[in-house]
Amino acid sequence: MKLLCDHMLGSLARWLRFMGYDTAYPEPGRDRTLIERVRSEDRILLTRDKELAARVTDAVRIRSDILDDQIREVAAALSLHLVSPLSRCSLCNEILVSASTEDVKDSVPEGVRSRHRAFWRCPSCGRVYWRGTHWDKMVARLNELELPRAP
Ligand SMILES: [Zn+2]
Repeated sequence: MKLLCDHMLGSLARWLRFMGYDTAYPEPGRDRTLIERVRSEDRILLTRDKELAARVTDAVRIRSDILDDQIREVAAALSLHLVSPLSRCSLCNEILVSASTEDVKDSVPEGVRSRHRAFWRCPSCGRVYWRGTHWDKMVARLNELELPRAP
């Protein structure tokens, strides 16, 4: 399942990527361009725009402007769960590749390198990820939402 968040839903897009979902987040543009991309890439459109949602067959209209509730709304509509946290770059949606401590020595502080052995790098923007406190907090926040469990 591939998703596309309209330009009002940037935080939601980053969280869906963290959850492992392929989530496009295009620059603001014409509705027609957005709809064409949804169709050509076979994505489900997530939008707060009622009229735009009505023009697309595969669309979920988001009603809340609170992130936690937005995640719940999408999860309920599409049976989302935590697919694979840390598989995808939150910033650019690329699949992460694993990296060694040596690979990340210039971009990760020594304290982090001494506590963690597994790292991932985004092949597009170069950002490095690891399962640190930030990761724990994000997973804890998702668990608090009590989303459906993976089958
Ligand atoms: Zn990236």
